[in-house]
Amino acid sequence: MSGHDPRADAPDTASKRVPETEPATGRLIFERGAPESRCVEAPALDVPEVPLDEALGGYVRTAAPALPHVTEVEIARHYEALASANFGVDSGFYPLGSCTMKYNPRIDERACRLPGFASAHPYQPASSVQGLLELLVELQESLAEVAGLPAVTLQPAAGAHGELTALLAIRAYHAANGDARRRVIVPDSAHGTNPATVAMCGYEVTQVPSNERGGVDVEALRRALDADVAALMLTNPNTLGLFDENILEITGAVHAVGALAYCDGANLNAVLGKVRPGDMGFDALHINLHKTFATPHGGGGPGAGPVAASRALAPFLPGPVAVRHADGSFGLMTPERSIGRVRSYLGNVGVLVRAYAYIRAVGGDGLTEVAEQAVLSANYLKERLKAVWELPYDRTCMHEFVLSGGRMRREHGVRTLDVAKRLLDYGIHPPTIYFPLIVDEAMMIEPTETESKETLDRFADVLVRIDGEAASDPELVRGAPYTTPVRRLDEARAVKEPDLAWRPAEA
Ligand SMILES: *Cc1c(COP(=O)(O)O)cnc(C)c1O
Repeated sequence: MSGHDPRADAPDTASKRVPETEPATGRLIFERGAPESRCVEAPALDVPEVPLDEALGGYVRTAAPALPHVTEVEIARHYEALASANFGVDSGFYPLGSCTMKYNPRIDERACRLPGFASAHPYQPASSVQGLLELLVELQESLAEVAGLPAVTLQPAAGAHGELTALLAIRAYHAANGDARRRVIVPDSAHGTNPATVAMCGYEVTQVPSNERGGVDVEALRRALDADVAALMLTNPNTLGLFDENILEITGAVHAVGALAYCDGANLNAVLGKVRPGDMGFDALHINLHKTFATPHGGGGPGAGPVAASRALAPFLPGPVAVRHADGSFGLMTPERSIGRVRSYLGNVGVLVRAYAYIRAVGGDGLTEVAEQAVLSANYLKERLKAVWELPYDRTCMHEFVLSGGRMRREHGVRTLDVAKRLLDYGIHPPTIYFPLIVDEAMMIEPTETESKETLDRFADVLVRIDGEAASDPELVRGAPYTTPVRRLDEARAVKEPDLAWRPAEA
């Protein structure tokens, strides 16, 4: 806070590093301890020793396994250090745009660990898991209500999987009408999973541009539409955090050529209880339960991407679907023209139970408040930051907004990537960067409804401060981070050639 030392508010390398004698991370458990260290001592043999049968031949080890030799407290410290090297929503602010990193209430964890849910076996007869099936039916009903669409499958294991499921159902729907359409329209602001899904379903991607207000260019869309188009895939609110002002015109134009409108529902948090995708004219929607309905996520799962669909698409959904029988009991059924299974058993049931617990705890009015608060938080931050950062689409946003670091790069040679790395030194997870692709040096910020004004203010203060650092000491920002276990990685190489295996040193 001294005002002259640009690093004053950020933990610096020297003071925050754990001293070299006890590095927090960096040493593997195999590199700790000493040959004589033990965690437990086996009692002395009180029976005759019997060597492993020679008949096992080549399968018997000839050398002792290279196990770590550590004491119990060393093990405890090792895992504690690893756990604290992790960053999650419970460690600090995590404004990762499009990912909805809201706080995950502990009550949901408790619910999904109840033995009746956690210990259920996939092959148990339906009569012995009536409670679980009832929960799944009620979850389907709640999601149908939120979506404004009557049918729901809980099978897909993620949002991208939901996209694939819905597009396969759409393809089956067209095929059932004897209609072999070849193209799917995707706007240029779309998440990468959208065109990937289109390609996986064997369709061709037709891209339409955004207009100057950040919505779909409706004239370009009309030009792209004809009887060869199977569907439009659209995120609304979109990845700029903007609600499309022409949504009814858009879905109307899609239906006019016999195509279906698919909503990527990753941004549902912004409109929960306010508007329903079904009322916007969408025929199908995936819902990222792990984003909107608060399941810990990141690092690859598990998640759940249920699909809600119109009456016309319902017969094609994957089965089995949980159903309520006329006599009040619960069971499973497969829709008549189902595309088949897309996931083993009933999906990621642990995630489904968490989402159900969340919905019941928050309640119908509470869901509406979630959306209102998420939108308020985003607009508050946007207004605070637009004075210093470029805001390419200056409109009231929904739950997220996209800034541009273009000016910072031109004037100081500091890139959005550098800012993201510098945020780590302030204990903040960086926002999503370089997405959506239509914004230069993009930084996509989604604060969510669960953060206090104090947290939002600190984040804004830090970003303004980093803008100042970029001007006064660009090298400082370009060299960040200084306080993390590893500094700058060759990120492409870290993904393409991950070296995650440990091998014992040659004896
Ligand atoms: C997260 C996201 C997806 C993909 O969802 P996953 O659950 O990660 O597969 C698709 N579209 C948008 C806009 C997203 O934010």
